[in-house]
Amino acid sequence: MKFGGTSVATAERWQTIGKLAASRRAEGVRVLVVVSALAGVTDALKALSAEMDGGKRKHAAAAIAERHHALAIDMGIELPARVAERLESLAHLAADGPAAGQELAWQAQVQAHGELLSSAMGAAFLSAQHLPTTWVDSRDCLKAVALPNQNERTRLLSAMVEATPDAALQARLAGQGEVFIAQGFIARDDAERTVLLGRGGSDTSAAYFGALLKAARVEIWTDVAGMFSANPRQVPGARLLKRLDYLEAQEIASTGAKVLHPRCLSPLREPRVPLLIKDTNRPELDGTEIGPHLREAVTSVKAISTRKGITLVSMESVGMWQQVGFLSDVFNQFTKHGLSVDLIGSAETNVTVSLDPTENLLDSDAVAALAADLAKVCRVKVIAPCAAVTLVGRGMRSMLHELSSVLAEFGQLRVHLISQSSNNLNLTFVVDEDVVDELLPRLHELLLRSGSLRSDDDVQFGPTWQALYGRGEAQMVPGWWRGERQRLMNLAAERSPRYVYHLPTILERARSLKTLDAVDQCYYAVKANTHPQILKALAAEGLGLESVSPGELQAIDQAVPADTPRLFTPNFARREDYVTALATSASVTLDALHPIEQWGEVFAGHAIMLRVDLGRGLGHHEKVRTGGSSSKFGLPIEHLGRFIECAERHNVRIKGLHAHLGSGILDAAHWGEVYGQLAALADRIGSVEILNIGGGLGVPSHPGEQPLDMIELNRVLSEVKATYPQYKLWMEPGRYLVAESGVLLSRVTQLKAKGEVRYLGTDAGMHNLIRPALYDAWHEIVNLSRLDDAGTTLYQVVGPICESGDVLGNDRRLPETHEGDVMLIAQAGAYGAVMASHYNLRDAADEIVIE
Ligand code: ADP
Ligand code: ASP
Ligand code: MG
Repeated sequence: MKFGGTSVATAERWQTIGKLAASRRAEGVRVLVVVSALAGVTDALKALSAEMDGGKRKHAAAAIAERHHALAIDMGIELPARVAERLESLAHLAADGPAAGQELAWQAQVQAHGELLSSAMGAAFLSAQHLPTTWVDSRDCLKAVALPNQNERTRLLSAMVEATPDAALQARLAGQGEVFIAQGFIARDDAERTVLLGRGGSDTSAAYFGALLKAARVEIWTDVAGMFSANPRQVPGARLLKRLDYLEAQEIASTGAKVLHPRCLSPLREPRVPLLIKDTNRPELDGTEIGPHLREAVTSVKAISTRKGITLVSMESVGMWQQVGFLSDVFNQFTKHGLSVDLIGSAETNVTVSLDPTENLLDSDAVAALAADLAKVCRVKVIAPCAAVTLVGRGMRSMLHELSSVLAEFGQLRVHLISQSSNNLNLTFVVDEDVVDELLPRLHELLLRSGSLRSDDDVQFGPTWQALYGRGEAQMVPGWWRGERQRLMNLAAERSPRYVYHLPTILERARSLKTLDAVDQCYYAVKANTHPQILKALAAEGLGLESVSPGELQAIDQAVPADTPRLFTPNFARREDYVTALATSASVTLDALHPIEQWGEVFAGHAIMLRVDLGRGLGHHEKVRTGGSSSKFGLPIEHLGRFIECAERHNVRIKGLHAHLGSGILDAAHWGEVYGQLAALADRIGSVEILNIGGGLGVPSHPGEQPLDMIELNRVLSEVKATYPQYKLWMEPGRYLVAESGVLLSRVTQLKAKGEVRYLGTDAGMHNLIRPALYDAWHEIVNLSRLDDAGTTLYQVVGPICESGDVLGNDRRLPETHEGDVMLIAQAGAYGAVMASHYNLRDAADEIVIE
């Protein structure tokens, strides 16, 4: 059991350590406790050992002594003799300073005192608590090996131990007691010198002991319940990783997750000792279990980590294209300077590598000396400070297609190097250091949203950090359908496949839109769902209705009173469609030059809305982004002058401007920006009274994704409205109003196993719900007949259509499923039934609205 700095800093924590060790004893095993120095003490000792002034060093040693005296008082014990001795030796080391040529060895000796002191305090305290504890000097057990090419600095300050099961040590300790305490961070080398294992190295000490003693388990007790999908201090929505195999955990640790020292997993792999990470303060929480697990079939990005302080060395061969031995020449220089290379990018005449400070004890002298030597064989450029951002997950290369939104984020930055690990476990981007803190939370959110981090899979992902530690979080509200299970089972028994829409959910969304004070008129974009009962209900709530075709206009006419405000916003529509629409009360929107240039007389005397393209698109998938030149929507701004001219010529008044950048947007700031840009354009036109900022309000679909913050949206819109009070503000959400209200019920038709892959067929398919096939959209799928059973099997959920793309959900962990079971596909209220086809001449799903 290894306890980190914060876990050993107070008497209260030591009480907990005592209890935890006693509980393991009660399981009938011997316990070896490995401890760090009290929190902050290693930093203090490091500062002391860098101090030139002897007086200041003595002062620093006295302050460290004071902390241990205070802890003894807190613990209610006399200062243990062993602690007094160590404090004395520290005082001497501080007073004397290093002997000439012995600086590094002296530093190691000084810094070793942190763990020597904390372990001695702990031994005395635990023994006083009726848990007789034997103090062990780790240096007698952990022998550092001298590796070729290690320099003196790494040998002393970042040493390595070859830990293979050691029966003699096992027997020796077994003869000495039941509970032991030893120091993390320190070992001894062949020359009998005290050496250190590198900052954070106490985890690795525990792992070495675990391997030497062939422990049942190594437990790392720290201040967080495990390894998370990102540093939880920076990303509160990071998910607990419940189970990892050694290699994945190793990758996450070595790419930046400080919770484990990067070297602490490899000693455990061979003897297959499992490692558990737990929170000392919250032992009841599950933690992360790392072991030789079977590979999970759900491929997912597991974590995103960042490392700062990365130095890039770019080496340009001087005009010697394909010069044999160039790589060997340059790498020899790294060997000579004892620097280990991390990432590599190469071209015909350039090799760029990164140096990671955690492995290299980098100082600017070391890099300068390296650069000077390299300059003899090539042109060198040192780029620093950089940061490495790494996505970790088994089978990274097969996930690239899901990462487009994440990659797009890097498109806006200076990326110095991209590297994918040859073990297919990571993808790393090296960027400027100063962008990384802001970037990390955004990337984590995009990973969730794109579904490349499969937060729905509860075998791998636990709760968010915020849920475990935060002051309550905006939990994802459970779908309404959970409370309507029996009713839905009955509906599915009558007919399937069948869409069911829950009217109360729609009305709730409509009411939340009314909290947007700045909005003068909201229009429901009926293309999302044209069910007449839904149109009626929303019109009754005061929403207008937005249509894009004569058919939709007609559906509206048939469903709602004549005075319901209407919008007609088509794209590449026929001339006669506009003629039809202009004969109704609908506000007509144009989004191209062609209609007004070629058919100006159609619009003569009318007031129209103009949809412009603000030049960029947003949204959850390329196919739902509706701005930018690669999208067919909107009048490009450069045509605005010609448009205004034509409008004037035909006596057409531009009464409003419209923009819609895409759908599935969860960032409130977006609509404020659109509003601001439209307002600036409107000022140029003069006749404009209305700004329509479109829809696209997102609905979170993956567990852990943050919902759109309506309070924030209200604030943003009110702020822009205060700046441009002269314009009426319209919005036209579709999906936001109806997505969550709808579910698609289906029945299981057949099951099939093909090799490892299990297929679950339902009578609903892509002809009923095309979003997964068209946009890679993610819909939660549950077995409603077995809603309370645990998910045990990974299924490909497929439909009956003769297309390989007829897949409703990939790798869904569901209970063992049988023919006739009712399956429910959630969030199917928007762009479900309306996008249905009769492909394969299969029937449309039935639709029903429930109150
Ligand atoms: P100890 O002192 O117990 O060794 P550390 O401070 O070394 O503890 O490691 C725990 C800290 O690691 C956490 O408090 C957290 O801030 C940080 N950390 C960074 N990345 C991660 C991650 N992906 N998961 C969990 N913790 C992380
Ligand atoms: N005390 C050492 C450090 O702070 C080792 C450790 O705590 O893991 O780096
Ligand atoms: Mg640590």
